[in-house]
Amino acid sequence: MARGKNTNVHLSCSKCKMQNYTTRINKKTTTKLEQKKHCHRCNAHTSHASGSEIKHSS
Ligand SMILES: [Zn+2]
Repeated sequence: MARGKNTNVHLSCSKCKMQNYTTRINKKTTTKLEQKKHCHRCNAHTSHASGSEIKHSS
């Protein structure tokens, strides 16, 4: 059984806050992640910050 080292989180656009991407981070070593990614709503490359955790409902 794999213990969750990495947590799935949303990456949200810093401008419009739209959650465009998901990524996995290790919450013990990474508290905040920022990546330049294309936002469809802004139609531009903006910085996307890791935000809310994605919980598996099952
Ligand atoms: Zn945006």
